Amino acid sequence: MAERPYIVGNWKMNGTRAMLAQARSIDRAAQNLMKVEVALAPPFTLIHPVHREAEQIGVGAQDCHPLPDGAHTGDISASMVADAGAKFVILGHSERRQNHGESNALVREKGTAAIDAGLRIILCVGETEETRDDGKAESFVTRQFKASLPETLASPEESLTVAYEPVWAIGTGRTPTVEEIGAMHRAIRATLVELYGEAQGTAVRILYGGSVNAENARELLAADEVGGALVGGASLTAESFLGIVLAA
Ligand code: PGA
Repeated sequence: MAERPYIVGNWKMNGTRAMLAQARSIDRAAQNLMKVEVALAPPFTLIHPVHREAEQIGVGAQDCHPLPDGAHTGDISASMVADAGAKFVILGHSERRQNHGESNALVREKGTAAIDAGLRIILCVGETEETRDDGKAESFVTRQFKASLPETLASPEESLTVAYEPVWAIGTGRTPTVEEIGAMHRAIRATLVELYGEAQGTAVRILYGGSVNAENARELLAADEVGGALVGGASLTAESFLGIVLAA
């Protein structure tokens, strides 16, 4: 486990202003749990309100457009989310890849735009159940990861977090074994070291995501090379999310 685990809540398409009370409770608790770095990625509409509430936790977005501005009705740019108070953006989530047809190339462009706007990125990768059953999970994820990364990263340690999220574990209540998570995280670590060298490559945090809850967090977070968790469903109430933060 990393020295200071990073626990990030991804609210997905959940949350109106009524949920600000949850963010407030998470923020207050995080002020007494300084050994853990806590962050929330609410929907776009709540980035600024959560940012205003937050004294301790980091606030981020769940997506951004690859271009800085222009005629793109309904889209939100990286500089807009930064202006609203976001410090990071989650990119390449499997729900974006599946439901919006996002390719590795598009994720790469978005990552470059995010870095240019001064945001850090949490880059998500993960295999389908079919790919795992075929015994190709590690080669698939390694390829997906390399193809989704921004072309240049001046300071990977500062700007990049990786989240390994097997598609089949997201929202299903199923998780890989600790051994499977460790093996995948070691493969991602090896790729990071290959790309950025020993010092930078070992400093980038690799999160696990997919059905993490207060009951299984301790075990999953103890897997090899796991530096924290990206949490969906269990981040929607302060109680369940803080259970995970405490386990870290
Ligand atoms: P889950 O989602 O915790 O609800 O499985 C994780 C994620 O999609 O980031």
